[in-house]
Amino acid sequence: MTTICAFGIIALAGCNDDDKAQQTDSKKNLQPIVIQGALPIETESLAAKLSDTTVETVGGWKFWKGTYQGYPVIISKTRMGMSNSAAATTIAITRYNPVAIINQGTSGGHDPALNVYDIVLGKYTTNIGAFRTPQLPVGGGSNALNWTEAFDVFPEDESDPEPIAIRKFEGDAGLLAAAQKAKLNYKKGQVVEGTLGAADVWNNELDRIAFFHQNYGTSAEEMEGASVAQIAAQFNVPFLGIRVLSNNITNGGAYDAGTGEACQEFVLDVVVEYMKAKQPTS
Ligand code: SAH
Repeated sequence: MTTICAFGIIALAGCNDDDKAQQTDSKKNLQPIVIQGALPIETESLAAKLSDTTVETVGGWKFWKGTYQGYPVIISKTRMGMSNSAAATTIAITRYNPVAIINQGTSGGHDPALNVYDIVLGKYTTNIGAFRTPQLPVGGGSNALNWTEAFDVFPEDESDPEPIAIRKFEGDAGLLAAAQKAKLNYKKGQVVEGTLGAADVWNNELDRIAFFHQNYGTSAEEMEGASVAQIAAQFNVPFLGIRVLSNNITNGGAYDAGTGEACQEFVLDVVVEYMKAKQPTS
């Protein structure tokens, strides 16, 4: 009976109380998954959806620990930018030993084919703020479109003092598979796989955005993902960036504050799909 229920071959209603208690325990015994958002509007509605919530603040970083549909979940407010999100990630990994990390929130479109409310799953996440610039003399000016050498701040060969490469962090295959399943429920736009670019920069120059789209293959930009991906890679923790377009100046897509909420709802569906797959089946 227990085994049949756990495999989901018959409806849950057919299980007895012992089976249900066992399922609840097997959920609770999983390592937690961490969902990050930079801003209060990108985290607080997620936190409000948890049960049995406790709050922990470490330095300036806030974590809500609880369960969602019985699965252990931690919501982390990273604050904005690369340094904040790196610190929040390090704290989360060392303190909570998460099974995976999802960095989610709003973003600005780099691809004219994508619209506000579309969601980009970060098959790749890359740093679009690290460069070696050309050498120019005093009075030579500065033109960021000529910054064609990406500086790899995370090179495999640590002895190379000036590693030049576009470093792309791969999104975890298990998280991507969960997101592909959750995609069926998302009705507010498309869900596509792509490259997310991150830096402590908000780009509003269309030629610059086109440069990243062409040379880095970016679908959208934000200010945290690559930093989180880099720290998660150091600790071997599965990572995925999931970003909704809240604005897209490449096609006139005006900023819409409702997108943040839409992304959070989608991410919770991803979490359920991912944790379901992690749950022991017998
Ligand atoms: N106007 C927005 C402010 C977003 S501030 C609002 O009121 O909600 C910047 C944050 O949003 C960062 O954490 C970044 O990850 C994300 N973001 C959204 N659009 C962005 C864009 N076009 N460029 C860079 N970051 C963006």
